[in-house]
Amino acid sequence: IKVIGVLALQGAFLEHTNHLKKCLAKNDYEVKIEIIAVKTPDELNQCDALIIPGGESTSISLISQRTGLYPCLYEFVHSPEKVIWGTCAGLIFLSAHLENENALVKTLGVLKVDVRRNAFGRQAQSFTQMCDFSNFIPDCHDFRATFIRAPVIDKILDPAAVKSLYELPMNGKNVIVAAQQGDNILVTSFHPELSENDIRFHDWFIRQFVSN
Ligand code: GLN
Repeated sequence: IKVIGVLALQGAFLEHTNHLKKCLAKNDYEVKIEIIAVKTPDELNQCDALIIPGGESTSISLISQRTGLYPCLYEFVHSPEKVIWGTCAGLIFLSAHLENENALVKTLGVLKVDVRRNAFGRQAQSFTQMCDFSNFIPDCHDFRATFIRAPVIDKILDPAAVKSLYELPMNGKNVIVAAQQGDNILVTSFHPELSENDIRFHDWFIRQFVSN
Protein backbone atom coordinates (compact mmCIF):
# COMPACT_ATOMS: atom_id res chain seq x y z
CA ILE A 1 0.00 0.00 0.00
CA LYS A 2 1.19 3.52 -0.84
CA VAL A 3 -0.24 6.67 0.71
CA ILE A 4 -0.43 9.89 -1.32
CA GLY A 5 -0.92 12.97 0.84
CA VAL A 6 -2.28 16.25 -0.49
CA LEU A 7 -1.09 19.23 1.52
CA ALA A 8 -4.32 20.90 2.63
CA LEU A 9 -3.23 24.21 4.17
CA GLN A 10 -4.41 26.48 1.36
CA GLY A 11 -5.08 26.40 -2.38
CA ALA A 12 -6.30 23.79 -4.86
CA PHE A 13 -5.99 20.70 -2.68
CA LEU A 14 -9.57 19.45 -3.20
CA GLU A 15 -9.12 19.51 -6.97
CA HIS A 16 -6.00 17.34 -6.67
CA THR A 17 -7.83 14.94 -4.35
CA ASN A 18 -10.74 14.66 -6.79
CA HIS A 19 -8.42 13.93 -9.71
CA LEU A 20 -6.58 11.28 -7.69
CA LYS A 21 -9.89 9.66 -6.69
CA LYS A 22 -10.97 9.52 -10.33
CA CYS A 23 -7.67 7.81 -11.17
CA LEU A 24 -8.24 5.19 -8.47
CA ALA A 25 -11.81 4.59 -9.65
CA LYS A 26 -10.73 4.08 -13.25
CA ASN A 27 -7.37 2.41 -13.14
CA ASP A 28 -5.61 -0.55 -11.64
CA TYR A 29 -2.25 0.17 -10.16
CA GLU A 30 0.39 -2.30 -9.13
CA VAL A 31 -0.09 -1.40 -5.47
CA LYS A 32 -3.08 -0.28 -3.46
CA ILE A 33 -3.16 3.53 -3.21
CA GLU A 34 -4.69 5.61 -0.44
CA ILE A 35 -5.24 9.37 -0.49
CA ILE A 36 -5.21 11.56 2.59
CA ALA A 37 -5.38 15.29 3.31
CA VAL A 38 -2.30 16.53 5.18
CA LYS A 39 -2.48 19.29 7.77
CA THR A 40 -0.48 17.84 10.66
CA PRO A 41 2.88 16.12 11.22
CA ASP A 42 1.04 12.88 12.09
CA GLU A 43 -0.76 12.89 8.75
CA LEU A 44 2.46 13.72 6.91
CA ASN A 45 4.26 10.83 8.60
CA GLN A 46 1.79 8.36 7.04
CA CYS A 47 2.65 9.46 3.50
CA ASP A 48 4.90 7.94 0.85
CA ALA A 49 4.19 10.81 -1.53
CA LEU A 50 3.05 14.40 -1.11
CA ILE A 51 1.37 16.80 -3.52
CA ILE A 52 1.88 20.47 -2.73
CA PRO A 53 -0.92 22.29 -4.54
CA GLY A 54 -1.15 25.64 -6.25
CA GLY A 55 -2.58 28.58 -4.39
CA GLU A 56 -0.49 31.28 -2.80
CA SER A 57 3.05 30.37 -1.89
CA THR A 58 3.33 33.15 0.71
CA SER A 59 0.25 31.74 2.51
CA ILE A 60 1.30 28.10 2.26
CA SER A 61 4.74 28.96 3.63
CA LEU A 62 3.39 31.16 6.44
CA ILE A 63 0.66 28.73 7.50
CA SER A 64 3.13 25.85 7.58
CA GLN A 65 5.47 27.89 9.79
CA ARG A 66 2.68 29.00 12.15
CA THR A 67 1.22 25.53 12.55
CA GLY A 68 4.64 23.99 13.16
CA LEU A 69 4.42 21.80 10.06
CA TYR A 70 7.33 23.52 8.27
CA PRO A 71 10.20 21.52 9.89
CA CYS A 72 8.39 18.23 9.17
CA LEU A 73 7.75 19.28 5.56
CA TYR A 74 11.40 20.26 5.26
CA GLU A 75 12.53 16.83 6.42
CA PHE A 76 9.96 15.07 4.23
CA VAL A 77 10.87 16.80 0.98
CA HIS A 78 14.59 16.31 1.62
CA SER A 79 14.14 12.54 2.06
CA PRO A 80 15.17 10.80 -1.19
CA GLU A 81 12.74 7.93 -0.61
CA LYS A 82 9.71 10.27 -0.55
CA VAL A 83 7.91 11.34 -3.71
CA ILE A 84 6.91 15.00 -4.13
CA TRP A 85 4.85 16.81 -6.75
CA GLY A 86 4.57 20.60 -6.53
CA THR A 87 2.14 22.50 -8.76
CA CYS A 88 2.48 26.26 -9.21
CA ALA A 89 2.75 27.69 -5.66
CA GLY A 90 3.99 24.21 -4.70
CA LEU A 91 6.83 24.57 -7.22
CA ILE A 92 7.72 27.95 -5.70
CA PHE A 93 7.61 26.53 -2.17
CA LEU A 94 9.98 23.68 -3.09
CA SER A 95 12.61 25.71 -4.87
CA ALA A 96 16.10 26.66 -3.78
CA HIS A 97 16.07 30.21 -5.05
CA LEU A 98 13.49 32.84 -6.06
CA GLU A 99 14.46 35.34 -8.75
CA ASN A 100 12.09 38.06 -7.60
CA GLU A 101 12.85 37.38 -3.94
CA ASN A 102 10.04 37.87 -1.49
CA ALA A 103 11.09 37.69 2.14
CA LEU A 104 7.67 36.29 3.07
CA VAL A 105 8.19 33.09 1.12
CA LYS A 106 10.48 30.92 3.14
CA THR A 107 10.95 28.03 0.74
CA LEU A 108 11.80 24.40 1.43
CA GLY A 109 14.93 24.76 -0.72
CA VAL A 110 15.07 21.24 -2.13
CA LEU A 111 14.56 21.86 -5.86
CA LYS A 112 17.83 23.04 -7.39
CA VAL A 113 16.44 25.76 -9.65
CA ASP A 114 15.92 29.51 -9.91
CA VAL A 115 12.19 30.27 -9.97
CA ARG A 116 10.49 33.46 -11.12
CA ARG A 117 7.08 34.06 -9.53
CA ASN A 118 4.15 35.45 -11.54
CA ALA A 119 6.30 35.21 -14.66
CA PHE A 120 3.38 35.60 -17.08
CA GLY A 121 1.92 38.61 -15.27
CA ARG A 122 -1.05 39.14 -13.02
CA GLN A 123 -4.22 37.10 -12.47
CA ALA A 124 -5.84 38.63 -15.56
CA GLN A 125 -3.07 37.22 -17.73
CA SER A 126 -3.93 33.66 -16.76
CA PHE A 127 -4.38 31.34 -19.74
CA THR A 128 -4.72 27.79 -20.94
CA GLN A 129 -2.31 26.26 -23.40
CA MET A 130 -2.59 23.09 -25.47
CA CYS A 131 0.56 21.08 -24.73
CA ASP A 132 2.12 17.98 -26.26
CA PHE A 133 3.51 16.01 -23.31
CA SER A 134 4.09 12.84 -25.33
CA ASN A 135 7.85 12.99 -24.81
CA PHE A 136 7.26 12.03 -21.17
CA ILE A 137 3.58 10.92 -20.91
CA PRO A 138 2.86 8.17 -23.45
CA ASP A 139 0.34 9.29 -26.11
CA CYS A 140 -0.47 12.56 -24.31
CA HIS A 141 -0.33 14.87 -27.33
CA ASP A 142 -3.11 17.25 -26.42
CA PHE A 143 -3.26 18.27 -22.78
CA ARG A 144 -4.91 21.61 -22.08
CA ALA A 145 -2.83 23.09 -19.25
CA THR A 146 -4.03 25.95 -17.04
CA PHE A 147 -1.59 28.67 -16.00
CA ILE A 148 -2.70 31.00 -13.18
CA ARG A 149 -0.15 33.64 -12.14
CA ALA A 150 2.25 30.87 -12.92
CA PRO A 151 5.92 30.76 -11.99
CA VAL A 152 8.60 29.55 -14.40
CA ILE A 153 11.96 27.93 -13.88
CA ASP A 154 14.49 30.43 -15.21
CA LYS A 155 17.54 28.38 -14.58
CA ILE A 156 18.50 24.89 -13.49
CA LEU A 157 21.17 25.23 -10.80
CA ASP A 158 22.19 21.56 -10.84
CA PRO A 159 21.91 20.12 -14.37
CA ALA A 160 23.02 16.67 -13.16
CA ALA A 161 19.99 16.50 -10.85
CA VAL A 162 17.21 18.42 -12.61
CA LYS A 163 15.82 17.73 -16.05
CA SER A 164 13.40 19.91 -17.97
CA LEU A 165 10.26 18.09 -19.12
CA TYR A 166 8.43 20.87 -20.93
CA GLU A 167 9.17 24.43 -22.03
CA LEU A 168 7.23 27.37 -23.41
CA PRO A 169 8.62 30.27 -25.45
CA MET A 170 8.70 33.60 -23.63
CA ASN A 171 10.32 36.78 -24.94
CA GLY A 172 12.40 34.95 -27.50
CA LYS A 173 13.71 32.27 -25.20
CA ASN A 174 12.33 29.10 -23.65
CA VAL A 175 11.27 28.90 -20.02
CA ILE A 176 10.73 25.62 -18.17
CA VAL A 177 7.20 24.87 -16.97
CA ALA A 178 7.61 21.20 -16.00
CA ALA A 179 10.68 19.52 -14.54
CA GLN A 180 11.86 16.52 -12.61
CA GLN A 181 14.63 16.23 -10.02
CA GLY A 182 16.04 12.73 -9.61
CA ASP A 183 13.36 10.08 -9.73
CA ASN A 184 11.26 11.44 -6.87
CA ILE A 185 10.47 15.13 -7.38
CA LEU A 186 8.10 16.48 -10.04
CA VAL A 187 7.13 20.13 -10.49
CA THR A 188 4.71 21.88 -12.83
CA SER A 189 4.02 25.61 -13.29
CA PHE A 190 0.52 24.79 -14.44
CA HIS A 191 -2.46 23.10 -12.77
CA PRO A 192 -3.30 19.62 -14.17
CA GLU A 193 -5.90 19.29 -11.40
CA LEU A 194 -7.89 22.07 -13.09
CA SER A 195 -8.08 20.27 -16.45
CA GLU A 196 -11.59 19.05 -15.96
CA ASN A 197 -12.21 15.40 -16.82
CA ASP A 198 -8.62 14.96 -17.91
CA ILE A 199 -6.83 12.75 -15.39
CA ARG A 200 -3.94 11.70 -17.65
CA PHE A 201 -1.36 13.80 -15.82
CA HIS A 202 -2.34 12.44 -12.39
CA ASP A 203 -2.53 8.88 -13.74
CA TRP A 204 1.00 9.26 -15.12
CA PHE A 205 2.21 10.70 -11.80
CA ILE A 206 0.85 7.66 -9.93
CA ARG A 207 2.31 5.17 -12.41
CA GLN A 208 5.67 6.86 -12.83
CA PHE A 209 6.41 7.98 -9.28
CA VAL A 210 4.18 6.14 -6.79
CA SER A 211 2.96 2.71 -7.80
CA ASN A 212 6.20 1.27 -9.17
N1 GLN B 1 1.65 33.35 -8.00
C1 GLN B 1 1.31 32.44 -6.95
C2 GLN B 1 2.36 32.44 -5.86
O1 GLN B 1 3.29 33.17 -5.93
C3 GLN B 1 1.14 31.06 -7.46
C4 GLN B 1 -0.11 30.96 -8.26
C5 GLN B 1 -0.70 29.62 -8.28
O2 GLN B 1 -0.36 28.71 -7.52
N2 GLN B 1 -1.69 29.46 -9.12
O3 GLN B 1 2.22 31.70 -4.93
